[in-house]
Amino acid sequence: SAALVQVRDLKMHFPIYAGLFRRQVGSVKAVDGVSFDIMAGETLGLVGESGCGKSTCGRAVLRLYDITGGSITIDGREIGHVPQSALMGMRPTMQMVFQDPQASLNPRMTVAAIIGEPLDEHTDWSKAQKLDRIYELMDQVGLNRQFAHRYPHAFSGGQRQRIGIARALALKPKFIVCDEPIAALDVSIQAQVVNLLETLQDELGLTYLFISHDLSMVRHIADRVAVMYLGQVVELAPREALYHNPLHPYTQALLSAVPEPDPARAQTPQSRIILRGDVPSPADPPKGCNFCTRCPQVMARCKTEAPIFREVTPGRFVACHLYETVN
Ligand code: SF4
Ligand code: MG
Repeated sequence: SAALVQVRDLKMHFPIYAGLFRRQVGSVKAVDGVSFDIMAGETLGLVGESGCGKSTCGRAVLRLYDITGGSITIDGREIGHVPQSALMGMRPTMQMVFQDPQASLNPRMTVAAIIGEPLDEHTDWSKAQKLDRIYELMDQVGLNRQFAHRYPHAFSGGQRQRIGIARALALKPKFIVCDEPIAALDVSIQAQVVNLLETLQDELGLTYLFISHDLSMVRHIADRVAVMYLGQVVELAPREALYHNPLHPYTQALLSAVPEPDPARAQTPQSRIILRGDVPSPADPPKGCNFCTRCPQVMARCKTEAPIFREVTPGRFVACHLYETVN
């Protein structure tokens, strides 16, 4: 299948201002040269520790920001640099499910008004047409139609996330960025929401960018996984290849901390890789490889020369000098 989403060398830098005259003194390189494709109907997991830039990346791909550089093509249209006003027509195609359903739902609007808001903005349907669609959406996400005229505070966290998902689906999008969609939910209902997202994907042919710090959850839901560190994707691979045989030293360290569900592959405690030091500031990343200050396999070259993110074997992309001689 073809790529529905193509991201190339995406950069999202936020200026830092200081002093009386608010002069720009630097920039936070939250996303610094990220490239990936997402195939139609696929789920690409985007993982990394908090602060690595994965949420900013997801928002930038949907052009919730004016990006600093790079290109974004969604469903055949380059949207990286079109003005916000010109994005209106693309909004129905691409939607977002947010982490915190509490914060993202207006407490003064009824469920029907929340789910129907995108229809108000993008269609000229009658009230009756809109209500039909709202009921259909409530059915799809497993919300009782009788709740349509209640307010969000009357619902549990899981139900509120279903409301958020219904709203995201209102305009029949093709591509949805799910930004930690279950992180704020009780563990007992996380699986229900993930299962709902998977069912909807199958039924509606959706394509997901699934952002999460939860590597076990991503292993469950993603087809391929991209690992982010300090604003960059350091490795991208099919799920099983990544989890069974991580190539990048950072991926190896991340995964060494995740319990292995298959006892036959269970790791001994000694194989846990503890990284020294802290993640550097994205306002002042190291010279050379972004991971060089913490990498257990750092070489002299790593401190001066940034590795190129490249395909080392078919379908497997890594940014690391250790793999540059493999050819
Ligand atoms: Fe480690 Fe060097 Fe590879 Fe960076 S390029 S991950 S420092 S070995
Ligand atoms: Mg985040």
